[in-house]
Parts: sequence; structure tokens; C-alpha cells
Amino acid sequence: MVTTLLPVPRIRSAAPSTGAASVRSLGDAYGRVASDLRVSLTDRCNLRCQYCMPAEGLDWLPRAEVLTNEELLRLIEIGVTRLGITTVRLTGGEPLLRQDLEWLVAAIADLDPTPTIALTTNGIGLADRAASLATAGLKRINVSLDTLDPETFKRITRRPRLPDVLAGVDASVSAGLLPVKINTVLLRGVNDHEAYPLLEWAMRTGVQLRFIEQMPLDAQHAWKRTEMITADEIRDRLSAHVTLLEDDRDRARRGSAPAELFRVAGTDHLAGVRGGDHTVGIIASVTKPFCGACDRVRLTADGQLRNCLFARTESDLRGSLRAGASDEELADQWVRAVATKRPGHGIDDPSFLQPDRPMSAIGG
Ligand code: SAM
Repeated sequence: MVTTLLPVPRIRSAAPSTGAASVRSLGDAYGRVASDLRVSLTDRCNLRCQYCMPAEGLDWLPRAEVLTNEELLRLIEIGVTRLGITTVRLTGGEPLLRQDLEWLVAAIADLDPTPTIALTTNGIGLADRAASLATAGLKRINVSLDTLDPETFKRITRRPRLPDVLAGVDASVSAGLLPVKINTVLLRGVNDHEAYPLLEWAMRTGVQLRFIEQMPLDAQHAWKRTEMITADEIRDRLSAHVTLLEDDRDRARRGSAPAELFRVAGTDHLAGVRGGDHTVGIIASVTKPFCGACDRVRLTADGQLRNCLFARTESDLRGSLRAGASDEELADQWVRAVATKRPGHGIDDPSFLQPDRPMSAIGG
């Protein structure tokens, strides 16, 4: 368990600074501005979710290619102080596998201006770390959980770790990382009968459930659109038990948020449990893409900048950084890369090609 945090050194460019940096925005040709940076801390994972990677795992990145903490922090600092990044989401692979995560969170929280720091995790080990991560400066957490049944959990993830994840969710609630969000992928014939039981559990536990349509990002390239449980199907399944009300407030505040939020009515039998204003999110990445409002840019664990999960090109920030580029040069490269962002992911286009990197190596 991590209880003490080491002092956070200020990491600076090795190259001399040319004075106070002006803040530029990461705009593209379609009028979007990236302000949400998703950083993959590792491509390794301790689960083997069948929609993500094969049972035997993948060829992990060689350690020498993975950014060090100092390199990561330098790139994040450039994004935050020079390029208008306001949210930094740490992901992977499994970000909790990075033992010094608390140190990194504290170092990001020490930046000026301080970005909102978020984490996407499978929850294994979180029970012991949620409090120290919150102390370090973590503000938001998404825990991935597809089932409440131990056998189904083992079938999907190929590991018997459901109790660890549930303990991690409870610890996140206790640590005040509210609202704790739960990411759920439904697989036909595996866990799709659990849509409502998961929602009922989420409402009782005081967490916000968000269903994500399965995307063609598995390493095995086995995704089939016809097999995917669509957002409409998810809505139908939930509507058999509760009334989902479209939330006008949500439409106004949704902005670039990927989840369409519904208020859940018809939960009188849950009266007296937690809260009362229950919501559920549905992320229709495939059937109703939200690329037009996308404000994301991604940094892989090996320092490659990507404009989209489905991008087929990357900009090599690590190469430039290790070759001695200054902060200004790295910021220029970043601005140029985002300017080429495509209008959409194009899953529905006949010319669509799945990216070479699977989700675990991009950072979900
Ligand atoms: N290990 C962390 C976790 O489990 O949350 C972070 C990385 S994981 C790739 C991030 C999210 O991507 C998880 O919620 C996972 O369920 C989701 N995911 C992985 N493969 C996916 C796919 N093919 N389609 C949709 N979501 C996927």
C-alpha cells in the first residue's frame, strides 16, 4: 500500500527556455480544439479481456521505448502550460501497474495551471490505492466492469478478480472520487443479460454506469458489427425495467462528453438507498459517433501522439524529445500533428481499416 508521497521535483526541459511561453490552442481544420489529453502509461495489463487481447497477451513494448516519468511529465507539462490541455486522463494498458503512479499524479497536480486529473483503470489493486491517489490530486475515476457474476468475469477477463474490482469501486467511493464512473462493454450471449442488474447495482452502490459499444480495436481483429450490442439495444434492455428520460440538461452540458446521459425513472423500489437522481450513460461510439465534438488527443506509452483511437498515423514525440528538441519545438510538432486530425473515425466507411495498434497499446 502506498501511504507516503515522495516530494515532486519540477521537471524542466534540458534545452534552455527562450522566455515565457505563449499558450497556443490545438486546433484542427474542422474547428475542433483538443484540450483533453489521454496518456497511456503502459501497454501491459493484468487482465486479458477477450474483446481486447488474446489469452496469451501481446508482445509488450520494450522497456527502453516506454517514456520515463520525467519524459512523460515534460510532455504533459508542455501540453498543459503551452497548448491549452485542461484534462489529463491516465490510462493504459493498466495504469495501476505503474508503481509510481501516485508520484506522477502529484507531479501533474503541481503544474500551473493544474489540469483535471482522471484515471481509467480495471480496478485491480485500487482498494489499496484509491485514497493515496485522491490525496495525490486525482479528481475523477472510471473503473471498467462488465459483469457482477464471478464466472462471467473470469470468462471475459480470463482472470478470477471480480472481488478485487468491487473492492476498488468501494474504495473509490470512500475516497470521494465522485461520481465514480463504471465503464461496461456488453458482449452478445456473454453478459448482455446483465444490462439491468448492472444498472441496479450501480444505483445501489452510488456509482454512474456507462455502457460503451464494442469497437473494432481488439488485437485479434475478431470484431463483427453484427455481433456488437448497439446503443439502441442497450436502451431497449434497460427500458424493460425502468424509464429512461432524455435529459435536456445533459444535451446542453454534453459538449464533447461521449456518453449520452439518461435520467432513470421508475426506481421507487430503490427509494431509500443512495441518492435519488440516478443517471445512466450510453456511449454509441460506433452507431452514433461523436467525432464532430471530439476534443481528445492521445499520447501512447512509447511517446507517439495520436489524434484518434482509430488513427493510422502517429507523430513521434519521443524521438524528437530524445533527440534533444526544445519545449518550443515539441509544442510546434504537437500543434502540426493535431492540425491534421481527420473529421471522423470512419468505421462506417467502406475504406475503414482497423488501426495496427490494439486498444491496450493506444490507451482507452
Ligand atoms: N486497463 C484499464 C481499464 O480496464 O479501464 C484502461 C485501459 S482499457 C483499454 C480502457 C477501456 O477500454 C475499458 O473500459 C475497456 O473495457 C475498454 N475497451 C477495451 N477494448 C474495447 C473495445 N474493443 N471496444 C470498446 N471498449 C473497449
